[in-house]
Amino acid sequence: MWNVKGHDWAVERLRSAINHQRVGHAWLFTGPSQVGRTHLARLFAQALNCESEYPENRPCGTCRKCKLIASGRHPDLILVQPTMGNRGNETLKIDQIRELQQDLNRTAMEGPFKIAIVSRFDSANPSAANAFLKTLEEPPPNVVLILTASESDALLPTINSRCRSINLRPVPLKIIEEHLVMDLGVPTERAKTLAHLANGRIGWAIEAAADENALETYTAKTQQLTDILKMGKVERFKLAEKLATKPENLHELFKTWLGWWRDALILSSGQDDLTQIINIHDVDQLQDVVGRMSAEDIAANLNQTDNSLTWLDQNANVRLLVENLLISF
Ligand SMILES: [Zn+2]
Repeated sequence: MWNVKGHDWAVERLRSAINHQRVGHAWLFTGPSQVGRTHLARLFAQALNCESEYPENRPCGTCRKCKLIASGRHPDLILVQPTMGNRGNETLKIDQIRELQQDLNRTAMEGPFKIAIVSRFDSANPSAANAFLKTLEEPPPNVVLILTASESDALLPTINSRCRSINLRPVPLKIIEEHLVMDLGVPTERAKTLAHLANGRIGWAIEAAADENALETYTAKTQQLTDILKMGKVERFKLAEKLATKPENLHELFKTWLGWWRDALILSSGQDDLTQIINIHDVDQLQDVVGRMSAEDIAANLNQTDNSLTWLDQNANVRLLVENLLISF
């Protein structure tokens, strides 16, 4: 039914809202990306429109409507996702909101509910967010809006106050690892590495488990960082020039490096509980850096990477940005 790992309390709240016929018209699911926000939203949509004659069995997952919703082809389900910019950043635009509003104003084809899942609403630009506010204030009848976002603080207070919130926490390491091994048949060692890298984002782990190149693609990024640390200035400038030719890859790359520096900082504080470490595959390299660099320098690298991510989204000159970061390590 509710095939959800690690968010039992959230499922309980949604079930109870349906059972008590207090579904309301707007929900906000927050939490880290790929923690399961959209997955939960889809199941909620299934539960709302499921045809099973036994309410306790909804969503049944097998009726026509459940299947159509799972595949994104149900006529009363609208999915809105931000568009990807040329630097790997995402924006939800006003045109998308206007199109959604037109769709919502059409009567539900099958009912009982027309449902819109608007993913990553924190990427909405101000005009899109304001336009959406009108729909939240006066929603058409039998419409349920489900927004997802990283944090509720990132949204306008007027949007927050009109939604019922469900804040999904990162899924514990053990639950992710067990799910990969027991339910998906992932070999133990690989499951352990992926569960650490997921850092609570179970959706990421499930996707990565299904993609045989995912782990290698990821480790290539951390390998690149440890290579940079061994490079001289000339080599670093050369690499910066090369990286700057593909700005669309930088967001993901910097985020990976950010996680790596975070691990280094945790290890440099003398923490020996490795459950906190994301890059468990790279513990030897991390320990090596921690042995050679002061905690202050590691913290400075972490901050510089974090700042570079912000500047990247603010359209700073890409080449200068990458050079600056690589030289600062
Ligand atoms: Zn069903």
